Amino acid sequence: MKRREFLKTTALGSTLPFWLQGCDFSFGSSEFPIHVHSDHQIGHLMMTSQSWPSVQKDKVEIAIVGGGIAGLAAANMLQTKSWKLFELSDRMGGTSGAGQFEGIRFSQGAHYDLDYPAYYGEEVLKLLESLDVIIYQPWNKIWSFVDQQHMIPYTRRQHCYVDGEIRSDLIPDGPEKDIFMKLMTSFTDQMPLPTRLIKPELRHLNDLTFEDYLLQNMELSPDLKRQISYHMMDDYGAGISQVSALAGIHYFACRPYYREEVNLFSPPHGNDYFVQKLVKPLSSDNILTNHLVRKIEETPDGFQLEILDINNQQVIVQKAEQVIYAGQKHALKYIYPDQSKFFNFEQAPWMVVNFITNQEKGNYGYWQNEFLGENEAFLGFVDSSVQAQGILNGKRVFTGYYCLKPADRNYLTTIEENKTRIIKETKGYIEAMLRNKIKPEAAFIQVMGHAMPIPKPGYLFNDVNDHPQAKIKFAGVDNGRLPLLFEALDSGITSIMHS
Ligand SMILES: Cc1cc2nc3c(=O)[nH]c(=O)nc-3n(C[C@H](O)[C@H](O)[C@H](O)COP(=O)(O)OP(=O)(O)OC[C@H]3O[C@@H](n4cnc5c(N)ncnc54)[C@H](O)[C@@H]3O)c2cc1C
Repeated sequence: MKRREFLKTTALGSTLPFWLQGCDFSFGSSEFPIHVHSDHQIGHLMMTSQSWPSVQKDKVEIAIVGGGIAGLAAANMLQTKSWKLFELSDRMGGTSGAGQFEGIRFSQGAHYDLDYPAYYGEEVLKLLESLDVIIYQPWNKIWSFVDQQHMIPYTRRQHCYVDGEIRSDLIPDGPEKDIFMKLMTSFTDQMPLPTRLIKPELRHLNDLTFEDYLLQNMELSPDLKRQISYHMMDDYGAGISQVSALAGIHYFACRPYYREEVNLFSPPHGNDYFVQKLVKPLSSDNILTNHLVRKIEETPDGFQLEILDINNQQVIVQKAEQVIYAGQKHALKYIYPDQSKFFNFEQAPWMVVNFITNQEKGNYGYWQNEFLGENEAFLGFVDSSVQAQGILNGKRVFTGYYCLKPADRNYLTTIEENKTRIIKETKGYIEAMLRNKIKPEAAFIQVMGHAMPIPKPGYLFNDVNDHPQAKIKFAGVDNGRLPLLFEALDSGITSIMHS
């Protein structure tokens, strides 16, 4: 084993995450503030809340757990019913949420979507149309975004850094790419969203890995394997040998990318744009942030929930006829153990790092900066200078993305004490790609322990709402869906249709 490999490995033989590798921990302090936000801080709350007083609230027809895209989509379907939505964080949006600094908002999770073909699911298209987000363009049979200023110009869309070399496309042109793309484009128009609309005759592709599928159909060089794996990590949290063939093909064929140019929509606060649109029609009295649902129990006439009201340090007891559970499913083993048995899949942790910098005049970059280097967890960064209003108050925001391994989850509690090192390394990657120094005023680290379900073989098409023993209704991309905005919206809408 090489020395570097040795330093990466613990006594138990598992690999350490990058911020704990090596033996030089002399990173000193930072010249600018670094703010860490981690969902691991919740465990502490569970302990301290034992002595809080409890208050009973009036019964509602529907209680929604979780204010991510799925929970909010469900709430948008409930105009005539009495309902409450509980979100544990101080803001809505979950993995599509945004941070704030001196009047600017920046994405701390999902950051884009693309025009929708007309054959996509009508429930989501209708909801987005009613929220004034999309509009139909009959001349090309596409649903496009109303706020066209947030479209990213094609020529500024992306460039890539591969082991020190800058190029325009991660998968370079050549005969191998041609064979691969021919295979993928043979599925164009057959890979809709939501995935529940995929025809039964294609569902066998959910039973094998993308790598096995490709090996059965073409030769796969190590370089192409690495490049495709990068794309899988970027959208699905794991590489080509882990995700299903259906997930992989869907990535390349869900829109007619190789027949026509598909518009890409990315406001500076990312998919928080959709969060704000979903929140707008809802009554603010029904949406409660800083409210953590800690227990759900069945009662003779419905359900009873125990909710930690974090600001007021009290426990709310809420009765409801039905519950829509749109929180991450791993926590069900504590909240509603009886219903946790249906969910058996792996989730990838993610870490998002934002740098707020002073903008130099005339210094514009590319929107997406894909990064393939020695640290495989770092996938690259988004540069706000290409987004409309992306430079507000003279500030330019760089948002770096890390997809971590599920085994790294054990080490997420060490991020706070290693934040200076993480920031210095991330800044170094960004500067290497920009070939320029950045001058941060502040940095933010957003840690998400259970950010994304990995769509391994067998994962898709298992909607727990169809299970006869499911007592409550489930929403969220981690209910047998691909981790995408459209799927999250559809899962929220259909959870209400089921109830
Ligand atoms: C880094 C990253 C980048 C991404 N980029 C994109 C992208 O560009 N485009 C795209 O389409 N998709 C992207 N995704 C996928 C994105 O996750 C989905 O599009 C969508 O936001 C998932 O929504 P959700 O409602 O299913 O889950 P979540 O966003 O996980 O929402 C769950 C919510 O429930 C709350 N909650 C959990 N437990 C409780 C409890 N006990 N009590 C109260 N509240 C609770 C959580 O705080 C959270 O707000 C990205 C994901 C990540 C992690």
